[in-house]
Amino acid sequence: MTDNSRLRGRNAKILATIGPKSASPSAIRLLAEAGADLFRLNFSHGTHETHAAVFEAIRSAEATLGRPLSILADLQGPKIRVGTFPDGALDLKRGQTYALSPEETTSARDTIPVPHPEILASLEEGDEILCDDGKVRLTVSEAGETPRVTTPFNAALSDRKGFTVRGKTLPLKAMTEKDHDDLAFALELGVDFVALSFVQSVDDIREAKSAINGRAPLIAKIEKPGAVADLDAIIRASDGVMIARGDLGVEFPLEQVPIIQRRIVREAREVGRPVIVATQMLESMIENAAPTRAETGDVATAIYQGVDAVMLSAETAIGRHPPTAVAIMDRIIKATEEAPDYRDSLRQFMGDRNEERVIDIVARAAQSLAFAVKARALALRTGSARRLAQFAKHRGRYFILYGSADDTRLRRAQLLWGVHPIHVEHIEQGDWPRALMDAAGLDGAVAYAAWKGGGDDTAWEMGIKRG
Ligand code: PEP
Repeated sequence: MTDNSRLRGRNAKILATIGPKSASPSAIRLLAEAGADLFRLNFSHGTHETHAAVFEAIRSAEATLGRPLSILADLQGPKIRVGTFPDGALDLKRGQTYALSPEETTSARDTIPVPHPEILASLEEGDEILCDDGKVRLTVSEAGETPRVTTPFNAALSDRKGFTVRGKTLPLKAMTEKDHDDLAFALELGVDFVALSFVQSVDDIREAKSAINGRAPLIAKIEKPGAVADLDAIIRASDGVMIARGDLGVEFPLEQVPIIQRRIVREAREVGRPVIVATQMLESMIENAAPTRAETGDVATAIYQGVDAVMLSAETAIGRHPPTAVAIMDRIIKATEEAPDYRDSLRQFMGDRNEERVIDIVARAAQSLAFAVKARALALRTGSARRLAQFAKHRGRYFILYGSADDTRLRRAQLLWGVHPIHVEHIEQGDWPRALMDAAGLDGAVAYAAWKGGGDDTAWEMGIKRG
């Protein structure tokens, strides 16, 4: 990265999932041009070979466009799946009883293979099981080593579909062998973030952090009841959270999902961890070239709540209009951020929940300084990702121009609300605030804050440069 193009002109970021419809270098470049700031490699699909090719294509688009583009490796996590059927599927009949057996496959027409004996042993009478994202529903009628289940409606259950025991924390490890293998591969590639699926407790975060060993920030996907119950500890132990509404809506009644979203956004914003809202944001755009009014409202709601990023999943991975979906998301974000009630909404959403530590006072003072001199932006210099996140946390009026010569730092900063990472070769020298303004294509006054190093949060130098 040697060049810096103009600012995107918005605070919230766009995270686009790459899949078969967007994996080519030209498709990735179109997504970045349309507004994608971060890209998700979904390790539930694809091979190491396909992910490596996508990784290279994103790095190459970054070099061409001259703006930091971040890559998030999303690990599959301990997802439970049914085994396989001789015909590829089993037609389940309403009212009939089926046995769940701990085998990989079975030919018996009254048996469903579930190759997870420890899960089967933990089932209790009355437990509700959802397969294939809720399309197939089973109720446990008898517990035991081969529990028995009934289904309330006829449905076809096919090979390897997901198997979720609703509302229950299951005896699973945080990461499977595949996750460890994928993690080693992703870290070797040099991804900028790792996301962990199906987190059930803060212990899962600790286990994943120890495997990552400081080589990438960790994003906790909140989708299980255990994670919602342990939310505060999980948020504090992670470097960011993703509200994975797809699986949340399987685990919880659908009407609870917006309520849980608000709670997660508030708690993450309160402690200064970036928060991503994911899944079905522009779902109808998998097929159509324009979203529904309701989808537009869903994206706007997340922006009014002050989330750091909104994510596209199937829309960009397997949809018919990936760059259009990104461009429309970009338009919705910008329109919402320009609405007269936007800033009031950001503030009111948090009520009086903001912490008041020294770093919070410094961050607000820097924004006030920018306001006092009618600055165009706030230039920031710090080597610490946590301190940078504390500045973003305040959802200030002024864009933060974050300068560094370290591309990894810049890419990690890309997830943060209102932060515009800019490559500057010698950030320690000369008039670095002006250099950042020039790179951003801005003129006029700039306020700046630079951390002076050491372990002291109060050690900041602040000032203004008039245009
Ligand atoms: C989700 O369940 O909402 C989610 C983001 O997970 P994935 O897309 O990886 O299944």
